[in-house]
Amino acid sequence: MARIAVIGAGVGAMAAAARLAVAGHRVTVYERSSTYGGALGRFERDGFVFDTGPGLLRLPAVYRDLFVKTGKEPLESLVELAAVDPASHHLFADGTEVSLPNASRAGVMAALDAALGAGAGERWGAFLIRAREAWDRTRRPLLEEPLWPNWQVLAREPYPAPKQRRLLRSPRQAATLGEVAEWELGGGHLGALLECYALEYGLDPGTAPASAAVLPYMEQTFGSWYVRGGMRELARAVYERCLARRVEFVFDAEVARVREKDGRAAGVELADGTLVEADHVVCGADPRGLERMLPGRELWGPDTVRPAATARPSRFTVLLALRGARPADAAHRTVVHSPGATAEARAAFTGKHDEPPTVTVLRPDDPAVRPDDDHEAVTLTATVAPSGPVDWTDEALVRQYTDRLIAAAARAVPDLRERMLWHEPRTPVHIAQATGAGGGSVPAPSLAGAGATLLHPSNTTGLPGLYLAGGWAHPGGGLAHAGMTGALVAGLIVEGDDFRGSQ
Ligand SMILES: Cc1cc2nc3c(=O)[nH]c(=O)nc-3n(C[C@H](O)[C@H](O)[C@H](O)COP(=O)(O)OP(=O)(O)OC[C@H]3O[C@@H](n4cnc5c(N)ncnc54)[C@H](O)[C@@H]3O)c2cc1C
Repeated sequence: MARIAVIGAGVGAMAAAARLAVAGHRVTVYERSSTYGGALGRFERDGFVFDTGPGLLRLPAVYRDLFVKTGKEPLESLVELAAVDPASHHLFADGTEVSLPNASRAGVMAALDAALGAGAGERWGAFLIRAREAWDRTRRPLLEEPLWPNWQVLAREPYPAPKQRRLLRSPRQAATLGEVAEWELGGGHLGALLECYALEYGLDPGTAPASAAVLPYMEQTFGSWYVRGGMRELARAVYERCLARRVEFVFDAEVARVREKDGRAAGVELADGTLVEADHVVCGADPRGLERMLPGRELWGPDTVRPAATARPSRFTVLLALRGARPADAAHRTVVHSPGATAEARAAFTGKHDEPPTVTVLRPDDPAVRPDDDHEAVTLTATVAPSGPVDWTDEALVRQYTDRLIAAAARAVPDLRERMLWHEPRTPVHIAQATGAGGGSVPAPSLAGAGATLLHPSNTTGLPGLYLAGGWAHPGGGLAHAGMTGALVAGLIVEGDDFRGSQ
């Protein structure tokens, strides 16, 4: 039995902790805040309940696997998963609307034909076939296996972009998602539809590789899911599974240093000076913090994927308490498209918020998140630059941005302003407080292509015995991907270097 110290109680770290405890290890999680879940936060007031982090779960199979492997009770007996159907309603800048059914390729194609004209569905369907090829090529290395030692091969673009013929000029192939949107989908509404998937994950369609096509593929194939009671219920279920497997939690315990002895990780030191011995250390927090925790120690060899040098984008969220019942036909998720998503992304990622944002409006039909049926809890989210390029403590800016999100949402929610009881903005500053990630950045899933710049560091590090879990490690951010980091870290500790990934 090994002693394992885990830094942070985010879902990725807790998924690792539960699996390691089941394998017979003594696991203790040190969390700097007073609760578990990290980004999966909750805000409650006057009977309204809001998720302050993720609003939707993709690939629930990752969590089904965790619960099957760590105990007898399956995920579905601990939380109620509801398929979000339609998966998304889209409101484009010119007023065109389309609702896309959940996990139904034929349904999506029919909806696109009906809303955008005959042929739109076929065009999208042909794109999804290419996206599936990129998914098939990268699923194992980018989701299910530890990062390959020859990860450089993942710099190659796996998306099979068709050659675009051009008069008197050599043919060209889309390299970015923006080019796929323009050249293969003809721009317009279909292009905007594709681009919003990148934006939602904090990726600029203008620079994200064509392989980001796997993001709509993943959602439209495996579906979007909501956890009744709010998404934090998923964190609660993982936390309780950890407790049932005798994982110990120490809250209000910030890890200040990773201890090193004889060239391996040997425990942690807490901010209050407490020394903890351990045989393995799992860091479930932003690994950029390890440079402070292990000063002078080279963790990233010349030939390894390093943590991103620049802060990744964040999210701006507005929580809305509304009087009046939620209409029965309201979509759970509406994307209100910006008139120029590409311009928006460019501006947002450089910290200039001068374009109207693309806003996701979440209206869960869940009695547990509202005081009664005469009220409604609505959450608005947009991708923004992190703290750093932007001063998100600037109250005037926060007010201005809150107004922009509300103005966009008013297009999707009739009488929004008249119904509003109160609203609460949540900025990248709040995300940084909840997760500890620099600038409140939110990690995107790892993607192939783009010269390997969108890969995350391997789950092993240059210090033997020190492992990385959570959204900032391979295979990256998002609930499903972070959950997979738990399976990978546990496999690497239990099976050692021979571990070849989850089966
Ligand atoms: C607003 C928002 C919207 C999102 N939307 C979605 C979505 O719709 N779908 C989706 O799949 N994903 C979404 N995500 C991303 C998703 O929430 C995360 O990728 C996922 O929760 C991964 O969490 P994690 O394991 O990396 O841990 P995190 O949630 O980052 O938590 C890290 C934990 O480590 C702790 N910690 C940090 N430093 C220390 C230290 N030195 N000592 C002790 N503890 C420490 C922190 O306090 C925190 O509890 C969203 C995120 C945000 C913020």
